Amino acid sequence: MTTRILVTGGAGFIGSHYVRTLLGPQGPGDVSVTVLDKLTYAGNLANLDEVRDHPGFAFVQGDICSTDLVGRLMREHDEVVHFAAESHVDRSIDGGAEFVRTNVVGTHTLVDAAYRAGIRTFVQISTDEVYGSIDTGSWPETHPLRPSSPYSSSKASGDLVALSYHHTHGMDVRVTRCSNNYGHHHFPEKLIPLFVTNLLDGAQVPLYGDGGNVRDWLHIDDHVQGIELVRTKGRAGETYNIGGGTELSNDDLTRRLLKELGADWETSVRYVDDRKGHDRRYSVDCTKIREELGYEPRVSIEDGLARTVQWYRDNRAWWQPLKQRAQL
Ligand code: NAD
Repeated sequence: MTTRILVTGGAGFIGSHYVRTLLGPQGPGDVSVTVLDKLTYAGNLANLDEVRDHPGFAFVQGDICSTDLVGRLMREHDEVVHFAAESHVDRSIDGGAEFVRTNVVGTHTLVDAAYRAGIRTFVQISTDEVYGSIDTGSWPETHPLRPSSPYSSSKASGDLVALSYHHTHGMDVRVTRCSNNYGHHHFPEKLIPLFVTNLLDGAQVPLYGDGGNVRDWLHIDDHVQGIELVRTKGRAGETYNIGGGTELSNDDLTRRLLKELGADWETSVRYVDDRKGHDRRYSVDCTKIREELGYEPRVSIEDGLARTVQWYRDNRAWWQPLKQRAQL
């Protein structure tokens, strides 16, 4: 029997890759997908071109905060995978209202409607940023939440609201917390696509602070693999970290990108004032998803970065208008 999945934020970077994968040749085959997306500056219908004509695909433009629309859609679906969010930390520092609205109120609207409609499984896509910064070691899922930015605090709040429906109503809510994703179709305001597209244009790249902030990098193929394991084999009420196993300082990452693009540090890198409240280091402990669900990241950072750079080389028509519109 076909499982009808409602995917929120499916026109964005990760959500669209999830949908293309689910409906592609490597997908499970027994699913249909409806994407609910508001098409904010970060949403792009072109990200869904590959699946537009798939008989199991439907698109609805709308807001996850719209109670009536969400209530109607829930009654037509079996499961929810919730990606929709305001996702850029820098924008949340400039103004957090839209982050609280979408990431907290929107998540509540969805999970409440899901509960009332008897949705079987609700997967909340979250972030490792909810744990805050860690100097040494890695966070397990039981680590206290200490989010630092308006973005990460709104995501942590959304997680807690979603999980409260498990604790209160016994609803099957599962949460994933992943590290920094990278790959194709990534909006060019984020570090890797911004740096790659700047370098392709012969422009400098802006490096925050002393370049020593450390992040774990996760290729979107591996993230999608992790989400599918959680959706199909995870347990109700549980949280699963998902990481790529490659921690790099921003300096190290920049050096790798410069090498891929044949650019040199002296002419191409410009240090800029650090982001306010910039978390120093993130590090996810992925033991739980590895041991319980058999997750294993497969894309090496070398291969993943090379493929990502090649995609941006080949797809200027996708990113150039976005950069112009966002004045990046
Ligand atoms: P994105 O910004 O590329 O896409 C977000 C999508 O949500 C867009 O298509 C946008 O139009 C849609 N959206 C925003 N507000 C909406 C609303 N009110 N109603 C309906 N749709 C709305 O984000 P992404 O990078 O694909 O991230 C997806 C999820 O993964 C987010 O929840 C984010 O917090 C989480 N995440 C991302 C990363 C990363 O590295 N990109 C890391 C960890 C977690």
